[in-house]
Amino acid sequence: MTEGQTLFLILSLLYLSDCLVWTGGRTVLFSSPWCHQWRASFAGDYFGNADGSVALLNPLPPLGSSFWGHWVPVSMSPSGVCAFTLQAFQGTGRPFQTGIVLAYEEISELRADGKHLLLNGSRFTKCCTAEQAKFLAELIKRVSCEPTEKREKLIRESLVVQFAKEEALNHLAQVSDLAAGMRWTCSSFFIFLYVITPIMVSAYGLIRFVIPVAVVMLLSALFISVIYFRGHKTLFQSQPYDRLSNVVKMILCPPVAIRAADRLTLNAMSRFHPVLLANLLLGSDSLAFARAVIRDLKHPIQHDLTDPRAVSIVSWHAACELDVCTKFLEAQHSTILDELLSPPSWDGVSSAYCPRCSCQFATRLGECPDCPGVELLPFSVAQTSEATHE
Ligand SMILES: [Zn+2]
Repeated sequence: MTEGQTLFLILSLLYLSDCLVWTGGRTVLFSSPWCHQWRASFAGDYFGNADGSVALLNPLPPLGSSFWGHWVPVSMSPSGVCAFTLQAFQGTGRPFQTGIVLAYEEISELRADGKHLLLNGSRFTKCCTAEQAKFLAELIKRVSCEPTEKREKLIRESLVVQFAKEEALNHLAQVSDLAAGMRWTCSSFFIFLYVITPIMVSAYGLIRFVIPVAVVMLLSALFISVIYFRGHKTLFQSQPYDRLSNVVKMILCPPVAIRAADRLTLNAMSRFHPVLLANLLLGSDSLAFARAVIRDLKHPIQHDLTDPRAVSIVSWHAACELDVCTKFLEAQHSTILDELLSPPSWDGVSSAYCPRCSCQFATRLGECPDCPGVELLPFSVAQTSEATHE
């Protein structure tokens, strides 16, 4: 392998490693690899562990667009907080959760430390982002200061603001504007570094081009860093540390600058609920996404909580989130909860179905083998005769 090829391989590996993003167990990745159609993906079974997995963003121009949607790792009710949520998102596994439960009266000290939420000096739970940890710390502080009868309103409002569609639309337009120009610059840099440079080096040799290429790389990285810095300051005013550390990375390792748009957008919409993001991005597929979320909240897989206080808090929180989600969907699609929870079309031979995953079974009794703890529901005579007549 020549020196030029070795250098090209190192630069390619550096770049590809930056196209990999970690998707946590409470996160959905909305991506549009060719800046056209959006899709939603969760942490998979491969290339990861119990807490999440690695996803590959489109490495080729036009580089694609990506947003993360995060669920909170905490359940709240008017009586207390629990480091456990009922959602399993995709598949049948929940991310690791401690299940620690505290009444508000038991909380004497509360603060966010990076992604960690600290209660009474101990780590209560790890959030998806530092902003989510701050948001939860402030929310729990506000709720704990109120009398019990006012807490429900505050918790519900904290969910309702995550469904502010008008605000989300405006913010999405702003983020997309900031990222679009940057993406063109990043794509041009990619073409220079991985198309034009290898051709020139293979034709005329490395020695002649090494200094000009290094200068252009540095200037490109500086230019992209300036655009990124401005965009990040507009979107994330309270995160100067992230801004500076990313700029330093881009200047020290110019191929990293090609993914600058992702660094700007991935968490830019994450204060909104994933169901709202699906509504904005997925088009006709958004209802299927919402249906899966609603069914997961309504028919959660079994959990191993034994503390009655914890069970009460997580059940209350799931019911509250289900209600807020349902009201949002009713307003958007004129879809009522019954339609989202309706049985699947009868296959002509099965006797029962799983209300969570919609699989159909010949047996009428028992749990769904794919959804532990979820009891099968029998098809009614009306449902089977209606399907027969169709
Ligand atoms: Zn099932």
